[in-house]
Amino acid sequence: MNTNLQTPIDYLKGVGPNRADLLRKELGIFTYQDLINLFPNRYIDRTHYYKINQLQRNNADVQIIGTIINLQEVGEGRSKRLVATFKDETGVMELVWFRGHKWIREGLKLHKPYVIFGRTNWFNGKFNMPHPEMEFFEDHQKNLQSAMQPVYPSTEKLSNKGISNRVVIKIMQQLFAETKGQFSETLSAELLSELKLLSKSEAVFNVHFPQNQERLARAQFRLKFEELFYIQLQLIIKNLLHKSKIKGYPFTKVGKLFNDFFNHHLPFELTNAQKRVLKEIRADIGSNAQMNRLLQGDVGSGKTIVAFMSMLIAIDNGFQACLMAPTEILSVQHYNGLSELCKNLNISVKILTGSSKTLERRKIHESLENGELDILIGTHALLENKVKFKNLGLAIIDEQHRFGVAQRSKLWHKNTSPPHVLVMTATPIPRTLAMSVYGDLDISIIDELPPGRKSIKTVHRYDKNRLQVFKFIRDEIKKGRQIYIVYPLIQESETMDYKDLMDGYESIVRDFPLPNYQISIVHGKMKPADKDFEMQRFIKGETQIMVATTVIEVGVNVPNASVMIIESAERFGLSQLHQLRGRVGRGAEQSYCILMTSHKLSDDSKTRLETMVKTNDGFEIAEVDLKLRGPGDLMGTQQSGVLNLKIADIVKDKDILQLARYYAKNILSTDPSLKQPKNKAIMETYKQLGKYKNIWNYIS
Ligand code: ADP
Ligand code: MG
Repeated sequence: MNTNLQTPIDYLKGVGPNRADLLRKELGIFTYQDLINLFPNRYIDRTHYYKINQLQRNNADVQIIGTIINLQEVGEGRSKRLVATFKDETGVMELVWFRGHKWIREGLKLHKPYVIFGRTNWFNGKFNMPHPEMEFFEDHQKNLQSAMQPVYPSTEKLSNKGISNRVVIKIMQQLFAETKGQFSETLSAELLSELKLLSKSEAVFNVHFPQNQERLARAQFRLKFEELFYIQLQLIIKNLLHKSKIKGYPFTKVGKLFNDFFNHHLPFELTNAQKRVLKEIRADIGSNAQMNRLLQGDVGSGKTIVAFMSMLIAIDNGFQACLMAPTEILSVQHYNGLSELCKNLNISVKILTGSSKTLERRKIHESLENGELDILIGTHALLENKVKFKNLGLAIIDEQHRFGVAQRSKLWHKNTSPPHVLVMTATPIPRTLAMSVYGDLDISIIDELPPGRKSIKTVHRYDKNRLQVFKFIRDEIKKGRQIYIVYPLIQESETMDYKDLMDGYESIVRDFPLPNYQISIVHGKMKPADKDFEMQRFIKGETQIMVATTVIEVGVNVPNASVMIIESAERFGLSQLHQLRGRVGRGAEQSYCILMTSHKLSDDSKTRLETMVKTNDGFEIAEVDLKLRGPGDLMGTQQSGVLNLKIADIVKDKDILQLARYYAKNILSTDPSLKQPKNKAIMETYKQLGKYKNIWNYIS
């Protein structure tokens, strides 16, 4: 019989109300189940006994067998301490206590074999061990002993209140005693045998009290697999449910507009990746289910044209489409780009942003509602309640990580049935992360750049090389090219950053004087109209240099700009650097990215700069970024729930993640509702996990 693992932790013998309170507050442990899932951070290998003459000066935790041959108090007042001389057949060392002398002294026995355990120090030509853990050798042999000692996560408060690692181990042992170490199996027999996994009970036991290194590794593997498997299972079920429950508008026709554009007005040949992705999207929006798709592609891989052609399909089927971008500049750019693409087609496109005039707004609202308007582009302004479509069929969100969850779901309610949704990322997300965070979305990847792109040459230069860099800029301008110079803008040090920007701008104006050189400047404190004016001058080629903060980070397209200079590059994150670099290399000319830094660089900064110099591949860069920053930081807090893993690690365990996703998919493909008897354990566990909360809270 199994103990109910939902039993509150207070009921465990040896816990009591005070400790229960601490465990809840400090470690979030409410139930037996939570305690089981308190996994050790590391283990101390107690399979080996050291001899005193084998000790190394490496501060390692070791255990030694020996006897105390002498015990005395030394020192005065505050430096008073209890010192034991400890001996084995190879030598002597000291054991030292700085606190609690009396009761320790009374408990210690001379000339009786002990097993001591702790960290060794080298002091005054001798090894010593402060506050060792001690056990009589005979007890040590009698006790059910795990060879490897777990070290549990702890907090300062816990150790101050006497809940030491030792106490946690005791509590854990008690849990195993009460449950007899029997835990219901949570995976199917099929999975266990196919993957040669330890049973749940064996795995749980060995993760807390490993019998040896090999058992520990297998226990960890099984538990990591299980954790990732259920996340994937939930995500995939969500996706399947979504497909069966949420009816979309089937766009069955690939009609006149699409074909007309494809055959006569396409400005370039699509890459194979673009064609493949378009096919995936077409299949999806042509079915009865509502599309929920993530479109990933590196900077400059040509996501926009894919978005546009998907919109044409929507319009061909009698629907409207919208494209939402995070900034005004980017919206305008999309508007101009799409207007250009539409110029020979009979469709109407409008833009709506925070700075649209009232009259214009009213006209847009009207033409949206009566269906005259086919495509609406804009910022968050699209989400306002006043914006009502006659029949929105496709919503596209560009550079998605800038939008929150709530905003996205708002788009859903712009029509009686939710529109198809295509989310485009600004920067690639590592595959494993995409699987975990967007596992319930379908994913399309453009993994090929348009032909003829010269890869951007990236170099790292120090401030003292500035004169050379300026000469290089002059040469490029002479060739007719344009230059970006970007300054960091970090929220916390905003005033300082603006000062840097303005200082930089002034020195550039000095080095590149009128009338030979025209310079634009754009930053966040300018009025939108002024920003736009400056941007337009640069886009039209009236200015040769654009000095800016990161406002140009997202999406701007000026093919003639061939040099990107990033000031204080060590202060930017990898994906930001990659985004910025993506602003050049859009034309036929060789482009350059120059990363300027001071000499003081942290290890992480160095890695970031080296990575940028080494590769142009956004997916590779994303992997490094994930390693440096960790998943939570990379994705922002909104998705952290998905990433709040207890034992697995998305970066280190990506092979297990892929395996887990593979098996979750596999099982659901033959048994989508987990009704087959062989999947009973999986069904039970899945049900217990309860409703999984994530981005698309639409079902429920
Ligand atoms: P991103 O994926 O970063 O949004 P864009 O859609 O802005 O990229 O495309 C970048 C540039 O590449 C644009 O100037 C676009 O016109 C061009 N482009 C896109 N697809 C192709 C293609 N198949 N062949 C040539 N140029 C292309
Ligand atoms: Mg883009």
